[in-house]
Order: sequence, then structure tokens, then C-alpha cells
Amino acid sequence: MRELLMIPGPIEYESNVLNAMSIPTISHSSKEFLSIYREALQRVSSIFGSETGDNIPFIISGSGTLGMEVSTVNFISRDSKVLVVNTGYFGDRFVDLFSRFTDSIEQIKPSLGEAVDPSLVKEKLDTNEFDLITVTHVDTSTGVRNDIKKIAEFSKSSNTLFVVDGVCSVGGEYLDMKWGIDVAFTASQKALGAPPGLTVGVAGGRALTRMGKLKPLTFFSDLRKWETVSRGVLDSKGGYFGTPNVNLITALNVSLSNIMREGLEARIKRHELMSSALRSGIHAMGLEIMAKKSHANTISAVYLPDGMDSKKFLGDAKDNGVVFASGLIKEVASRYFRIGHMGGIGPAEVLITLGAIERALKAGGYGVKAGTGLTAAQEILFKSD
Ligand code: PMP
Repeated sequence: MRELLMIPGPIEYESNVLNAMSIPTISHSSKEFLSIYREALQRVSSIFGSETGDNIPFIISGSGTLGMEVSTVNFISRDSKVLVVNTGYFGDRFVDLFSRFTDSIEQIKPSLGEAVDPSLVKEKLDTNEFDLITVTHVDTSTGVRNDIKKIAEFSKSSNTLFVVDGVCSVGGEYLDMKWGIDVAFTASQKALGAPPGLTVGVAGGRALTRMGKLKPLTFFSDLRKWETVSRGVLDSKGGYFGTPNVNLITALNVSLSNIMREGLEARIKRHELMSSALRSGIHAMGLEIMAKKSHANTISAVYLPDGMDSKKFLGDAKDNGVVFASGLIKEVASRYFRIGHMGGIGPAEVLITLGAIERALKAGGYGVKAGTGLTAAQEILFKSD
């Protein structure tokens, strides 16, 4: 039986992306690869809304966690003060990362399932104490989406650099460097629709100027090195720091071309519709979503019925053809599961997913009438026709 992968990355890829992975590796310094790399960087700029200005895109071998490091550590010193908006597991990860470089870390920690209130961020930024703030656009552990546009309005008039972790958002949610974001990044395996192994992002002019005044704190994550590579590639001269992942960049470029063909706006609207159909089905089955109001287009964290064992539920769902992810927030990990709904997600995946949830709930002894979730989702999909 075929299984559908519905975890929040890696995701199921389009067939042309998979095909691109099977092409023999060409020289990383060939003209052919230079042209692919350049095109991929240009497309990255475009997806982050940063075609103009002094922004520099980057594509570096490594996962999203490398993106977290590259996008922050280059803009701070050992005595910098940083602010972390912590809406879940990946907010904790920023704190862990910063703790290696500075002792001055402050956090704003909304209660579980809540997005940050932008006015609280404004209050902090108005003190002008912070060198840098990080916000996780969509925390993959909770499915909560933060209001990046509003926060950018406040950060751009402060001295605080605004860094956005867009790992679980870029390609499925609206995000635009022009709002006033200084640095944003994602990883290849989520809504960008390529295999894992690349971090992708953009650093803006204000961040690069700050970087120029600071001493590098790392080596492989030193954006000065990668900036030189990106500029060289964009100028068609080429550049080398570490051997680029030729096959992955080739596959990423194909996936980015799929996104451009569909149109970013249309793609985000599709994600919006699919997530609302999915959530409607989930609510209809009597289940609760962790994100209280501001839920993501790309991932949903769903509480299981009281007393239902999450391991058994995930096993039953897999036996019914769909793979979900387990909970990541320690205190409630055994009480919820996560559904990734990004990339090529369409009505077929939504309905298959809800069907598998219904059957897994039934296998766990939870009384759900056959088709309850499916009907609710169909109603949303019908309305959109
Ligand atoms: N930030 C967010 C929001 C994420 O979802 C993830 C990965 N799930 C990361 C950072 C880290 O990315 P990676 O696992 O690719 O290192």
C-alpha cells in the first residue's frame, strides 16, 4: 500500500524535483552549474520579496538549523543583547543557540497556542536595548503563526535587527523582506518543496552593514564568506567557499521554478484554502487545534481525544496510509500530533488525510461517524469552486 507523507518536512516532492535528483553530478565550477546556481539565487530573492536593494540571497549546504546560525550569529558580538520571541520548540532552539555567544538573552513567551502580541514586541523595541530580535514565523511544534508584517513595522524604526525564521512558512505563507525584515531564511525540505540539505535565505542591507562592523564568531557559518560566493555567482564569475551541493541546488532550482510557474500568491492562497478545509474537518470530528487563533497554512498541531495514546494513533494512521509527526512540546507531547500540509498539497491530500484520521480514531475507540471530517472539508472546498 502506498503511504502519504504528511509531516512538516521533509514533504512529498513533485516528480520533476525527484527527477532532477537523479541527474549525474556535474562539476560545481562548470558554466552549466553556475547558471543553475545563479538562477536559484535569483529565484530565492524573488520568493523572499527582495529582488531590489542591497539584499543578498544565500544557499548553503546544511539544514534549517544552520540557517538559524548564519542568520543571527553574523550580526551580534559577545556583548550583544538579543530578544527571542518564543512560541515553541524552535524559539527554545534560538535561546540554546544564542547561549553559546552571549549572556544577554531575553524572551517573550506567549502561552501555548498563542501568537505573540505585536504591541508587547513594540514595547521591548522602544527601549532600544536590543541588537537583534528573532521571531519564528510559524513554529512547527505548535502550528502558531506570528504577525511578521506588524512586528516589522516596529523593528524598522528601531536599531534592532529583525531576523525571521521562515523555515515552516516561506512558500506557503506571506512573507516579504520589503516589510522591513533584515534577515529571513528557510530550509529546502519544507514549503519550498525540495529534499532536505540546504538552508536558503536573504540578508538585507542594514544587516550587512552591521556585519561589516563586527568580528566573525564562526567559520562555516560566516556570512562574509557566503556573501562573496553569492555575489560571484550572481555576477556569473563564480565563487567557492565550500563545495556546493550540486544535485540539491539543481533540484531546488526545479522546485523554485514550479513555484514561480504557479505564482507565489496563488500558491499561498492554495495553502490557505487547504489548511482551512483540513481544520474544518478536524473540528467537525470534535478535535481541538493547538493554535488558538493565528494558525499556519502549512502545519496543524492537533490534540487527540482525552486518554488516546499518541503512539498508537500514529501507528494506526500509518496503517491507514498516512504518516503524521508526533508532538514536540514536551509537556503535552503525548497528547497531540502534527500534520504538515505544504508543497503540492491539494484536495486529494486533504481528504485522504482526514479519512485516515477518522479510521485511526475509530481504531483507538473514539466514536466518530464515518465521513464527518470529510464532509466538513468538502463543504469548504465546494465553496471555493
Ligand atoms: N525552524 C523551524 C521553524 C523549523 O520547523 C525547523 C525544522 N523543523 C528548524 C528551524 C530547523 O530546521 P532543520 O531541522 O532543517 O535543521
